[in-house]
Amino acid sequence: MITTRAMRLHAPGTPLFLDEVTLPALGPTQVLVRVLACGVCRTDLHVVDGELPRIPCPITPGHEIVGRVEQVGSAVTRWRTGDRIGVPWLGETCGTCHYCTMGLENLCESARFTGYTLDGGYAQYVVADARYCLPIPEKYSDTEAAPLLCAGLIGYRAYRVAGDAENLGFYGFGAAAHLLAQVARAQGRRVFAFTRPGDVEGQEFARRLGAVWAGDSDKLPSEPLDAAIIFAPVGSLVPAALAAVRKGGRVVCAGIHMSDIPAFPYHLLWGERSVASVANLTRTDGEEFMRIAAQVDLHPAVEVFPLARANEALSRLRDGRLTGAAVLVDES
Ligand SMILES: [Zn+2]
Ligand SMILES: [Zn+2]
Repeated sequence: MITTRAMRLHAPGTPLFLDEVTLPALGPTQVLVRVLACGVCRTDLHVVDGELPRIPCPITPGHEIVGRVEQVGSAVTRWRTGDRIGVPWLGETCGTCHYCTMGLENLCESARFTGYTLDGGYAQYVVADARYCLPIPEKYSDTEAAPLLCAGLIGYRAYRVAGDAENLGFYGFGAAAHLLAQVARAQGRRVFAFTRPGDVEGQEFARRLGAVWAGDSDKLPSEPLDAAIIFAPVGSLVPAALAAVRKGGRVVCAGIHMSDIPAFPYHLLWGERSVASVANLTRTDGEEFMRIAAQVDLHPAVEVFPLARANEALSRLRDGRLTGAAVLVDES
């Protein structure tokens, strides 16, 4: 029987508690993973703050897990003890519903998600279904690799849905945008970064990562955009982004939760502009993004916190007082 220390949510809206948890026995397709680093994602905040439905408390958040395989179930063939792997948000799917059979397992009716409906990586150990784990490019350290697991790869799904945009806008320049800006630049696109009004530091950070323009989210960019991705959970950014994209342009909402979108005049949508959302990830997205991460030299900006200080990392993220991504490391 293996026990793990874990920072757990006992009730939405309350701080996480450091608990000792007994792990379930390993199923045939599962692996036991020693967590080396776990990223702190905005979705964790939505879990902790009770903004997502049906949170099964107590639960351990965390779905940007970089870890070392310690045990493998009897049917696991891809991974061996000692492998460094990533455990992402998509934890399980049914494989038989309409969406799974259409290649849209990200929309599976009975999917389970790491750190939301399955215990996640704010812990020393995690049990994961090996079929949903991902390889980690060797050149990234544990803490650098953690934000690739969600900010990177769900961000990448949004980036793909945004289409072949030359002028690409990012609303909210945090963990996801700062990685995707680097991918976009490597692919010859021009990045426009929008931050909270007055966030001069965030705008400076975006320019350092190659943004051709950075400014307040309530301002229009220097040129019309071909597409925009909204990472910030702020509904009023939808009409703002529609006003910034040219005719035929697309606005992609990449978050799992957003405040209500205010009413806006039809002319903002007119001209074949469109609004789409991106939900979760498929395993194909994950594999594809990790191949890109292996080719392009991404420089993830991370701020490391000890596991026991997860609450502090979350509140810094909530207040917008992070540059890049927070990553938890167990120092025990
Ligand atoms: Zn399904
Ligand atoms: Zn996430």
